[in-house]
Amino acid sequence: MATHEVTNQPPPLENYDLYGSDPVLAAAVEREGGGWASADLAAFGWSVSSAESYHAAALANTQTPRLQTHDRFGNRVDEVDYHPSWHHFMGQSVANGLHSLPFERAAGEGGRVVRDAYFMLISQIEAGHGCPISMTTSVVPALRVEESLAAEWEPRILTRSYDPRLVPLERKAGVILGMGMTEKQGGSDVRSNSTVATPIEGGATYSLVGHKWFLSAPMCDAYLVLAQAPGGLTCFLLPRVLPDGTRNGLRLQRLKDKLGNRSNASSEVEFDGAFAHRVGEEGRGVATIIEMVSHTRMDCVVGSTALMRQAVTQAAWHVAHRHAFGHRLADQPVMQNVIADIEVEVEAATLMMGRLSGAFDRAVADSTEAGFARVATPVAKYSVTKRCSEVVREAMECLGGNGYVEESVMPRLFRESPVNAIWEGSGNVIALDVLRALMRAPQGAKEFIAEVELGLGADRRLDAAIAAMRDSLVSLDEPEAGARRLVERMALTWAGSLLVRHGDPAVADAWIASRLDGDHGGLFGTLSPGLDLPGLAARAMPRR
Ligand SMILES: Cc1cc2nc3c(=O)[nH]c(=O)nc-3n(C[C@H](O)[C@H](O)[C@H](O)COP(=O)(O)OP(=O)(O)OC[C@H]3O[C@@H](n4cnc5c(N)ncnc54)[C@H](O)[C@@H]3O)c2cc1C
Repeated sequence: MATHEVTNQPPPLENYDLYGSDPVLAAAVEREGGGWASADLAAFGWSVSSAESYHAAALANTQTPRLQTHDRFGNRVDEVDYHPSWHHFMGQSVANGLHSLPFERAAGEGGRVVRDAYFMLISQIEAGHGCPISMTTSVVPALRVEESLAAEWEPRILTRSYDPRLVPLERKAGVILGMGMTEKQGGSDVRSNSTVATPIEGGATYSLVGHKWFLSAPMCDAYLVLAQAPGGLTCFLLPRVLPDGTRNGLRLQRLKDKLGNRSNASSEVEFDGAFAHRVGEEGRGVATIIEMVSHTRMDCVVGSTALMRQAVTQAAWHVAHRHAFGHRLADQPVMQNVIADIEVEVEAATLMMGRLSGAFDRAVADSTEAGFARVATPVAKYSVTKRCSEVVREAMECLGGNGYVEESVMPRLFRESPVNAIWEGSGNVIALDVLRALMRAPQGAKEFIAEVELGLGADRRLDAAIAAMRDSLVSLDEPEAGARRLVERMALTWAGSLLVRHGDPAVADAWIASRLDGDHGGLFGTLSPGLDLPGLAARAMPRR
């Protein structure tokens, strides 16, 4: 029964120019050598922001994966059933090369930045499936340690076909890979892994007995896992299905009931004499799998930037269409300060992400870029993933009560927002990793300083921050307890340097004044009223 006319509610934000609405991202793609894909990225942005796509994302996250441990006859099957929307997103991402693009082009040709831009676009709509997509991309460099395995698996990783069937490798049109390190007694401290690997057939293959406390995307075709071999902690490739078509000894015990990331299943598993191939030498497990982890950490940066971008866009859209106390919310000065402040945060994150994407692309053939990426990756992983929850929470509040309601998309973004700070190394572990990288790889520290110093001369407040950061990195007398302070300073200063070189001058000014020169409160919406707040806030408005 129609009782009243609905007024003062915004139209849904759907079917919009997702890529064109983010000129900072588009400029980063151009700068880092990915301009050849601009038209495709624009088309992809329109496609993934369609009403159907938003609806599919909602379905994938409400019709959540279900574990089937046994068939109706009592045989173990260890399968997870997903809603078709999950498969839709997996298929779309694989068809567009989100798992394979960095390896389809030569180093320096922009494959990585283009892939990261795709990843950033789709993660704004459906973030959960990014987990297996990220792991599949990230497995490749680690797998290359073992030439014969890479020769067998890589051609099937690098197809554009999504094939969710559990069948032997030779019958697969394409494969998806995962990773298992975390056990009950230790996640960050993987050296405490208790899974035992016993050599069979002369040593290249092993039988694994043990467990993993977290194994995400359990329908993957294979996983890189860590286990204790006679020679110490070792990396293995563990296929889900054996060549004769029988299931490997991997038992799915239960699925985690998670805060967010609900479209994606994360399981607890037991290895019951599971067959696995050794990857790298015995005892070199951490060194081997860290190749993979540096890539998944990069994807945490991309994923968090995406969540922030979508949240801020939704906030800007809402306040542009909602009136209170006689004015559009977007015209209210305090609201302008809030939107401006969170927009500045996303733009800084986007610049860090873009620069890192370029470094990953070139690092294969350029040791300077490799050194820079070694330090900059954990710096960005630490700062961008941590800021994500704060930005999304503030953006959610801009929608008032609507923001707290599922249909607004904001609760899903909010629930998703902490995960990138926890997995692939939680905050303290990452901050300590930066300290370790600075001490063990002084070249990386030099490259990081050199990169940040490219911003010298543009702003005396930034110059002072760069000088202070350089002193800290040169003396390196920061005690372990000061790791977070040091990393935060590195991130803020690096972002300032990127902004004066590649960002909008007003955004750079706001960042430097607030984040580096102390003219800011402890929460968002506390930029100086003297800044061009309406202009900064307007940058968050999406294009249709
Ligand atoms: C949704 C989800 C999916 C996941 N999927 C996977 C997966 O597919 N595969 C996989 O292997 N893992 C997975 N994980 C596990 C994840 O990587 C770990 O939870 C994470 O690395 C932290 O390990 P932990 O849980 O053992 O915590 P702990 O290692 O016990 O850490 C607890 C806290 O202590 C801190 N800490 C640790 N060491 C130090 C130190 N030396 N000094 C100071 N503080 C310290 C940490 O920063 C953290 O805050 C997943 C986790 C989640 C939430």
